[in-house]
Amino acid sequence: MARHTTAVCRLCRRSGDKLMLKGSKCITNCTYGKRPKPPGPHISQRRRISDRGIQLREKQKARHTYGILERQFRRLFAAAEKQTGITGINLTVLLERRLDNVVYRLGFADSRSQARQVVAHGHIMLNGHRTDIPSALVKEGDTISWREASTKHEYYKILVETIKSKTVPTWLSLDRDKMVGKVLSIPIPEDIGAKFNAKAIVEYYSR
Ligand code: SF4
Repeated sequence: MARHTTAVCRLCRRSGDKLMLKGSKCITNCTYGKRPKPPGPHISQRRRISDRGIQLREKQKARHTYGILERQFRRLFAAAEKQTGITGINLTVLLERRLDNVVYRLGFADSRSQARQVVAHGHIMLNGHRTDIPSALVKEGDTISWREASTKHEYYKILVETIKSKTVPTWLSLDRDKMVGKVLSIPIPEDIGAKFNAKAIVEYYSR
């Protein structure tokens, strides 16, 4: 499974926003608050950022938020282009429908990278079938649950307690007693609250 190996807080500083890549640590001990300047040369030594640079930054922000590599991101963009409607919105929705993101949104993991690991290690069942593909796309009516054997893990036992205080987005529901999540509807942009500018990403790939 390909993954980013860069120090993730640098990604936040470079994108000029808190991308919340480290789960609860982002709330209790965020580096961005202490050092918000981008890494690299001092600000006075930088040239003005071009339109292309802004588009690139938005694309990277989306990619890093969901923790996916360029090749996968391009594939998703191509799929978004083929769909009817506005490509930027299609892309945002496709990113949000990834199984690892849904596991994160349900509160089954603290961050998307942890969610990706939970899925890749085979702990999650999609519609009753073990699924270890983080990029699998969920659809309306899908259920997300834990594999029976995984409920014996210490991680799961702690999660059952901590999940009580977590909230889930309106397009998902969670039965906290059974630890089963359900996709009530396909998310709309207002549900997602994306931190990136999807229009700029479309412009980036349209050149
Ligand atoms: Fe970003 Fe989280 Fe690091 Fe803060 S702690 S800079 S939000 S990854």
